[in-house]
Amino acid sequence: MKPETPPNTARSALMARVRQRGTKPELVVSELLRRIGCRYRLNVRTLPGSPDFANKARRWAVFVNGCFWHHHKACRRATIPGANRPFWLEKFASNRRRDAAAARALRRLGFRVVVVWECETADPGPLFTRLSEILKPSGDRIREPVDH
Ligand SMILES: [Zn+2]
Repeated sequence: MKPETPPNTARSALMARVRQRGTKPELVVSELLRRIGCRYRLNVRTLPGSPDFANKARRWAVFVNGCFWHHHKACRRATIPGANRPFWLEKFASNRRRDAAAARALRRLGFRVVVVWECETADPGPLFTRLSEILKPSGDRIREPVDH
């Protein structure tokens, strides 16, 4: 069960949670995707979890997760506010459950799913490598190898 009423500070933080477009981590990711040569749509509401970036034809989806709201494990940005700790713990747990459910649903649809954490976008080099390994557009992915 979710705690019923968050305190005012929590509530205003919840309002701020509404996904903002064009925040810096998302700009970093969009730039990397363009450099890799991936075409995408933004905030794809017709897919589970409304991925931040997705290409339905090529069946991939990228989520850019804030370390605080999605409670990135072992990340120093994933702090837990001291006041009303049970509320926050449940909030983070429910965010993570929702993230996991969306990823599962997408994988069932045959999508590659990538979660990019906010803290990863501070160092775009390794992120570029990771994204290009997973998403690199390639005709080989579509054609099955044929052995004669
Ligand atoms: Zn993080």
